[in-house]
Amino acid sequence: DHNVWTHLRAAFPADLDRWAVETDTGLVYSWRDLDRASAMMANLLASLDLPPGARVAAQVDKSVEALALYMATLRAGYVFLPLNTAYQRAEIEYFIGDAQPAVVVCTGANFGWVSQIAFRAGTAYVFTLNDDRTGSLLERAAHHSDAHAPVPRQADDLAAILYTSGTTGRSKGAMLSHGNLLSNALMLRDYWGWQPDDVLIHALPIFHVHGLFVAIHGALINGSPMRWMGRFDPKLTLRWLGCATVFMGVPTLYVRLLAEPGLSPEAVRPMRLFISGSAPLLIDTFNAWRERTGHTILERYGMSETLMLTSNPYRADPRHGGQSERRGGTVGFPLPGVALRIAGEGGEPLPPGQIGGIEVRGPNVFQGYWGMPEKTREAFTADGWFKTGDVGLQDERGYVTIVGRSKDLIISGGYNVYPAEVEGAINELPGVAESAVVGVPHPDFGEVGVAVLIAQPGAALQPEAVLAALKGRLANYKVPKRCFVLDELPRNAMGKVQKNQLRERYRDLFA
Ligand code: ATP
Ligand code: MG
Repeated sequence: DHNVWTHLRAAFPADLDRWAVETDTGLVYSWRDLDRASAMMANLLASLDLPPGARVAAQVDKSVEALALYMATLRAGYVFLPLNTAYQRAEIEYFIGDAQPAVVVCTGANFGWVSQIAFRAGTAYVFTLNDDRTGSLLERAAHHSDAHAPVPRQADDLAAILYTSGTTGRSKGAMLSHGNLLSNALMLRDYWGWQPDDVLIHALPIFHVHGLFVAIHGALINGSPMRWMGRFDPKLTLRWLGCATVFMGVPTLYVRLLAEPGLSPEAVRPMRLFISGSAPLLIDTFNAWRERTGHTILERYGMSETLMLTSNPYRADPRHGGQSERRGGTVGFPLPGVALRIAGEGGEPLPPGQIGGIEVRGPNVFQGYWGMPEKTREAFTADGWFKTGDVGLQDERGYVTIVGRSKDLIISGGYNVYPAEVEGAINELPGVAESAVVGVPHPDFGEVGVAVLIAQPGAALQPEAVLAALKGRLANYKVPKRCFVLDELPRNAMGKVQKNQLRERYRDLFA
């Protein structure tokens, strides 16, 4: 049986009364609690007579009951579809219209408008679930048995549809199978050296790959408990770093933790591993973390369509001459079982050190975009490699570096300009906290770069001085033609910089 649930359940400790999850609201759930809660919800789902492959969509606040709903959907053999809690009416209309879920679970506060949208789209059941253990989902589930035999699944049966973050355009529903999820979870358990007494701090939202699959599967497939935070709180995290071993965060979480004066080697004494991903980790953050805690952040790279693809080594990697160095600014080696190549303009494989499109294959690669056969076809090469849409290189030692997304590449006067390289140079200038470089149309050069800067607190940045300083550091064609200082970068719910918004804003600068 390839049902992910069956494998997670098999990893539960023998003593089901031990703690599995402790929340920031002081609730403690045992392994038996997780088993029973998900069994009751799975029995509820089974009683609804849903068609095979039915989608169960959830737009709910983070809670352990929401986690149980995910487990229940797997157990019952249906397809889980988590939705970002920030989505508003027009977005929910798109996702529900697109995915046609048979069941929608929303918060009590949103029930009015969400149920209207859902019923109009043909959804049969709308339940509510709140983060205080109330709502019709739990009331209905309470009438069902707490014993449930999981529905067997094949490796290529769908387990979840995950909408991409919508950083480069409209979100697409990535169809992930039980085999995709399971292969990635088992492989990461080994590669990151999960240990019997690990405790994970879960501080991420659970509607995305990072929080749902990497973090939750990571802990559960190892039978490890989680300290569970409804929303990220740096002070509480700092306290928990004294009684946990693994932390996973997006780069902004590390930046916010660095602002805590109490962060020190003593404060994180039991910690074994800090993992970062979802967006590039600035080298400044990487270095500052090492200075402040004595730990080297392990950066990894993945996406909705493929789960995890590369990782810096946790320990010496025999596939790469025993190298164990976690190199800042890189996303490490292709993970075991993942084949990765760098492709040139014509699709030809490029030698080490050369920049091109990142293409991958492996048991982790998704089944296609929901309802978009055309987009799915475009995303694969003729010989079956998935084109990630990211641009990067792999060096002689095997480390992969991402230089940007292909949609963010700037072609200026016929030369390729990689935004990440220019941003790196800008970030090194005194007074710069971060930056984003985007291409905008230009009558002579086709496109030119425009830089947006965020100043460090108290620093006053002069755009002309910044551009002048860059001229000494970068070839002229790479230097942005204009520069703006903003208070913050536009980010989406996953903390990713939305370059399409910046491009839109500065589109007519040279028109
Ligand atoms: P969309 O596909 O809708 O435009 P998205 O690509 O941001 O949105 P996700 O699947 O959530 O949606 O994010 C995956 C992307 O995040 C990757 O393709 C990559 O560009 C970026 N990413 C993930 N990890 C890293 C990392 N460690 N360094 C740099 N970029 C990363
Ligand atoms: Mg993407």
